Amino acid sequence: MLNIVLFGPPGAGKGTQSQKLIERFQLVHLSTGDLLRSEITAGTSLGLEAKKLMDQGVLVPDAVVIGMIDSKLNANKDAAGFIFDGFPRTIAQAEALDGLLASHSEKISCMLSLKVSEEELTRRLLLRGAESGRPDDANEMVIRKRIQEYESKTAPVAGYYDQQQKLTEIDGIGEIDHIFTKLCQAIEACR
Ligand code: ADP
Repeated sequence: MLNIVLFGPPGAGKGTQSQKLIERFQLVHLSTGDLLRSEITAGTSLGLEAKKLMDQGVLVPDAVVIGMIDSKLNANKDAAGFIFDGFPRTIAQAEALDGLLASHSEKISCMLSLKVSEEELTRRLLLRGAESGRPDDANEMVIRKRIQEYESKTAPVAGYYDQQQKLTEIDGIGEIDHIFTKLCQAIEACR
């Protein structure tokens, strides 16, 4: 299997690039943000709890997202591989993911980290908020909180994969297709 962690702060372009990568490499896309938003739309109790946190820009508990990923891995045993988008977001999630994959005799192939400046991130997210209607994109305070959560809890996850020599950093500013080409080259180098 080809198992990729697509990493980067909110607004780095993970969703856009994931769509292109799943097509090219026939991978299953696992976005914890999308999975949580589906729970909210379905009105489940998990969704109701998660919405309170997401609307404030803070992370939902590790156990919640780890449980969602566990069930998706079990439901897609025949997949060619996975793109993890927005997960793992804490060291505890990264450790849990290694454990889940090991139980399927699998592992992460590589982490691709998109680098984008905070100014550019805020600009993109406010623009997206105006178009997508996502409540957590519409408010600059919430955006700043998400970037803060990223810096304090999520950024260290890159070090976790760097220690395993699985990290490649990619400039996330520029043409979408140019960034995609660089991601594809990095994947070819790690598979
Ligand atoms: P973005 O990366 O653009 O902020 P996401 O759709 O990935 O958007 O996530 C939206 C929100 O969902 C996050 O701010 C957080 O509250 C919650 N969330 C998503 N994935 C995780 C995760 N792996 N761990 C904890 N919270 C998560």
